[in-house]
Amino acid sequence: MAKAAWDRQSEKAVVSMQNELLREQIRDSIAPFSPLWRRRFAELNRKPSMVKTIEDLAAIPAMGERDVSPSGDPIGMSALVLQAGEAGYTLHGKGPEIRKAMRVRATNKDAYRRIVDSDTRATSYVFTGHGFRYPIASTRNDLDVIARAGARLWSVLGLTSNDVLLSALPPGATTDHVALQYAATAAGAPALFPGADAASLQDAIRLAPPTVLAVATSTAPQILSELADLGSLRTLLLVGAPTDAERIAAAHGLSRCGAPSNTVILGVHAPVGARVLWGECRQSAGATGYHTYPDLEIIQVVDPDSGEATPGMGELVLTQLEMRGSALLRWRTGDTVSAIAMAPCPSCGRSVPRATGLRRAAMFANLESGKSLDLRSIAGVMSSRPAVRDWRLVVGRRGRDGAMSTVIHYDAINPDDPATAIAVATDIRHVTGTLPTQLVAATRDELATLSGTPVSARILVG
Ligand SMILES: [Zn+2]
Repeated sequence: MAKAAWDRQSEKAVVSMQNELLREQIRDSIAPFSPLWRRRFAELNRKPSMVKTIEDLAAIPAMGERDVSPSGDPIGMSALVLQAGEAGYTLHGKGPEIRKAMRVRATNKDAYRRIVDSDTRATSYVFTGHGFRYPIASTRNDLDVIARAGARLWSVLGLTSNDVLLSALPPGATTDHVALQYAATAAGAPALFPGADAASLQDAIRLAPPTVLAVATSTAPQILSELADLGSLRTLLLVGAPTDAERIAAAHGLSRCGAPSNTVILGVHAPVGARVLWGECRQSAGATGYHTYPDLEIIQVVDPDSGEATPGMGELVLTQLEMRGSALLRWRTGDTVSAIAMAPCPSCGRSVPRATGLRRAAMFANLESGKSLDLRSIAGVMSSRPAVRDWRLVVGRRGRDGAMSTVIHYDAINPDDPATAIAVATDIRHVTGTLPTQLVAATRDELATLSGTPVSARILVG
């Protein structure tokens, strides 16, 4: 029987394919070439070969940037890059590729080196990260994978080679820019990348009237307010999972720069650490979540407060398949989702895992200093204190000056003991570099009545 297309397999076929690709990824990439993961498996007292299925994977503690480089030094993050070489290649490369390499080895050393290098040598980098920027490496073959995913993204977005893309993303070594560039190239669509400057964008609009405009979600209203003559537009791509309010703001902006009223607004998003963009399908107009690539990644969810696997709302955890430069396993993205939907998309029928209710960087709060506060660090402190029975963190903006506030309500075993609050404050300062705005002793009932939008079981945005 012919293999079904990447987006038309049954749920059972997807799971069994992912199990097989996961075993391959661990056997041929992670176990032999990642000193970081070898050390991690040793600490967990587990053999890499014990991870055979998605369920086995879910039992491995997820890790994030602070676990790799506790000091926040980007140099420490180079541990994510796999250390493959020629000897490893012949042991762990793909059969047909190795046979091809062996055929040319005796007669053409250069050709042999090219084949080996394209699978093992990190040749290009993008920079990513929430708390600090760090590099993610790609081999030549990884770039092919990124291009393949880009062609798929184009079709999920309902675009064709007749579409003309204008990107207002700052060109540079970022996942968003590189993935978008590869997507347009792989789809055979003309694309212009003049940057975010309004005059350059307007020149590009005159030169090649765009049917697709890509803008970073956070700057979309400002950029749209500076553009005109977008009568050729059919699709607006908001890069970086937009919230409902951000979609409305973008729609408002579009209506004032001459775009047709039936222009479709779709979100695209790459979590930190990822190298491909996920898209919302055109048929859903953004209502059914981000469509992922089941043969390139496994997406799972953990409770950000405890780090434990959970079937419901929680932090998105990414495991990359088929990647050889950097290869992330159980990577905590800092994004949250309401669920991973496995059923076929009710709008387009694609049977790929969909990340629904995605909130980008929900585990981070922006501080006035320009730094971002990792809420998972606070959760880690609160969950590890034996004197604290339960707690809630309410993150908000202070009314009088708009400054970020972090208020921790906690139910202590001994509420009259000041040592608990002091210990908590000291620990939080140690891991985040800043004190919580307020620590409030509370009863269990009081915790239950706190209001705010939950981004996890215990973290609320007020
Ligand atoms: Zn769909």
